[in-house]
Amino acid sequence: MLNIRYEKTTTPKELPTRDNPLKFGTIFTDHMFVMDYEVGKGWHDARIIPYQPISLDPSAMVFHYGQEMFEGLKAYKAEDGRTLLFRPEKNIERANNTNKRICIPEIPEEDFLQAIKEVVKTDEAWIPTKPGTSLYIRPFVIATDPFLGVRPSDTYKFLIILSPVGAYYPEGLNPVKIWIEDEYVRAVKGGIGEAKTGANYVASLKSQVKAHDEGYSQVLWLDGVHRKYIEEVGAMNIFFKIDGKIVTPVLNGSILPGVTRDSVIRLCKAWGLPVEERKIDITEIKEAYEKGTLEEVFGSGTAAVISPVGQLRWEDTIMQVKDGGIGEYSQKLYDTITGIQLGKVKDTLGWTVEV
Ligand SMILES: *Cc1c(COP(=O)(O)O)cnc(C)c1O
Repeated sequence: MLNIRYEKTTTPKELPTRDNPLKFGTIFTDHMFVMDYEVGKGWHDARIIPYQPISLDPSAMVFHYGQEMFEGLKAYKAEDGRTLLFRPEKNIERANNTNKRICIPEIPEEDFLQAIKEVVKTDEAWIPTKPGTSLYIRPFVIATDPFLGVRPSDTYKFLIILSPVGAYYPEGLNPVKIWIEDEYVRAVKGGIGEAKTGANYVASLKSQVKAHDEGYSQVLWLDGVHRKYIEEVGAMNIFFKIDGKIVTPVLNGSILPGVTRDSVIRLCKAWGLPVEERKIDITEIKEAYEKGTLEEVFGSGTAAVISPVGQLRWEDTIMQVKDGGIGEYSQKLYDTITGIQLGKVKDTLGWTVEV
């Protein structure tokens, strides 16, 4: 049990109003959770304090060598007034896997969950209630030693900030256009592709800018060695429905193990759909498209939950999926997962945790 010190804000901000569009990740609540780490002392001084800038030495290691872990999950307001988290233990487990990979000290799981619950409870009034809205939770750790030199830091800060977010697709599910990247790569096996860390995103920026310039909203990555096996999309995992089967790339060490990905697989299996986690060659997708057996494509991730894919572009081939519309399973998965998150669909799998 963490002994959390509280310092309430004396200048609460105005809550976003109902008509505020709540652009993703732009508004932050009144408080944040902070805890420090020092070699010899461990994690200590847990506190919930007013949301504010943090002061760091310009030589703080995170600025120079990128030792940083982050997570993303959401809290939802159920119709009956309960505040629900969706599978937070999966995010906590993944956070510590990231920590291990990039030499950040692990955070005890119970303390991590307690910190999330307490800070969410503190700013509960900020959880929006309109359909599709939620409170996005962003835990992260940064290396703070004032030192230029490459080694793991001896000191860290763990923070949790909260941001009320609107529906990702305000007019309902909206198919995205995806650029299959054949020039740059995101990650290779043995690297940090399966860790949730900022460095993976900086590696992706150039490609994302290129795709945007071409009129595509996201990038689909191929493997870094052969440049032909499908990995994942920007901040989502990817699924294909081919000839009645759900197919997704197997977790191979360079793909981020999404919580939504795992939930999609479990639901599809529960519905009796065949699910294959395996290597997928991009030419297989092209052939399925040409044969007419590419029935659906969708991405999965916490932010959008399910993102139907309406178009894929690979080299000179443009593949129009479902005539650019929404697939049956994309819709069904979206409705079921968001239904469970909001306490509207019976949570037979025990995925929600009450704050
Ligand atoms: C976070 C993330 C995902 C999605 O994971 P969820 O747990 O489903 O939100 C997928 N790919 C990358 C690169 C990510 O950072």
